[in-house]
Amino acid sequence: MDIKIKVSDLNFYYGNTQALKDINLDIFEKNVTALIGPSGCGKSTLIRTFNRMCDLVPNARVEGSVMLNGENILAAQDVVKIRRKVGMVFQKPNPFPKTIFQNIAYGLEINNCKDKNFIKDKVEESLRKAALWDDVKERLNESALGLSGGQQQRLCIARALAVEAEVILFDEPCASLDPISTAKIEELILELKKTYTIIIVTHNMQQ
Ligand code: ADP
Repeated sequence: MDIKIKVSDLNFYYGNTQALKDINLDIFEKNVTALIGPSGCGKSTLIRTFNRMCDLVPNARVEGSVMLNGENILAAQDVVKIRRKVGMVFQKPNPFPKTIFQNIAYGLEINNCKDKNFIKDKVEESLRKAALWDDVKERLNESALGLSGGQQQRLCIARALAVEAEVILFDEPCASLDPISTAKIEELILELKKTYTIIIVTHNMQQ
């Protein structure tokens, strides 16, 4: 298996508090890597360095390197490109307050895609890959906020797939879901790992 992300000598500080200490870790391509550990041990902080979400915290400081395809994410100038390649799905689904269609199309539009047919095809393809198409194909122009929690979570996954993410970070993606919705997301993650590199933070040992 090839290494997709290589973490070397990573230290992370919130002001004077050190949250990550000398992390060295290889993440393998087309595989699911699960991070398990007690609350506060730094799991979220670690995955947030993988798409530069850590930049959003004032007074935070990072040392070391996180290499993706041979490029140091931590030194990259084009953060938008990094976030396109490394998508993130959060504990609480966070669709935009827009239609289902617009939720997927938005990422393509801000990346300067203007071809309406391409966008339409990509929306369908992404929703199919996220196992959501059959649920929503008749209601693409309805608000995404009307979907169930599990469907919203799959919509957020589709949003990452549309902009051709290579790595998808999941931060406790099933924590707010019922058992049936959880099973659907778990099944989907197993399917996605054939194509994508998956990193998941979870408290569920079975998961
Ligand atoms: P986990 O995901 O394993 O629960 P976190 O990465 O959220 O752990 O947190 C690691 C440590 O960093 C904790 O001690 C937490 O209190 C601290 N921390 C997290 N976010 C911030 C922040 N924005 N400002 C200051 N400290 C933070």
